[in-house]
Amino acid sequence: MGGCYGVSRSTIAEASHRKADFIDISGLKVKENNNINVGSVSYQKLYLQSGYVSENILQLDFKKLVSLPDGLDLAEWIASNIGFFKQINIFSSAMSEFCTGTSCPVTDAAGNKIYYWHDEQGKKLKCSAPLYTDYAMSYIQELLEDENVFPTKIGSTFPPGFIFMAQKIFLYLFHILAHFYWAHFQEIARLELHPHLNTLYFHFISFSQEFKLLEPQETAIMDELSRALLKHNLC
Ligand SMILES: [Zn+2]
Repeated sequence: MGGCYGVSRSTIAEASHRKADFIDISGLKVKENNNINVGSVSYQKLYLQSGYVSENILQLDFKKLVSLPDGLDLAEWIASNIGFFKQINIFSSAMSEFCTGTSCPVTDAAGNKIYYWHDEQGKKLKCSAPLYTDYAMSYIQELLEDENVFPTKIGSTFPPGFIFMAQKIFLYLFHILAHFYWAHFQEIARLELHPHLNTLYFHFISFSQEFKLLEPQETAIMDELSRALLKHNLC
């Protein structure tokens, strides 16, 4: 993908030592009381606190970064940015200790949103967040390995339904990111991974918006964060 800020395991292990004047979140427990308030910000929207939202690992012109390069086919450009999948997969691994069937029996996100998995027959399944992530990542991995969807051979072309497939992939990835922000920001902040997550999310959402890969009503639950990151990124 275009970004070069991969959240490697070593990066996670060597979490940033940056000190910010963040509030002490160690005594708060998300799952016991979803209504805890820190200042004017609901606890589960702790990610909107300026001390957190202003933290990213790279100050980039994301508008320029996501733009379709001159002469490049749109499908080719989207396919070359599917590395978002790898980045989010690595982040999921880092969260696996905290995102369990016990801590997250449903795949929830801001605004009391709950995501359901739909099986191949279209049946709606209520599943834990780690299971949803597993289903989503396996589904995406299969698509990536399907030569008919992501052709790699010279002279091959992308199928007519490629954009639709890409939209589906981006939708699943968005759900996973939305869950992490909503349910695990406390752990993410403790590990000082929020600058990585903010950068990853902002790149991802900028790319999605540029090529209309996600419906605005789908991403609305994260609009406050997207706007806040945009504001800080422009500073
Ligand atoms: Zn979780």
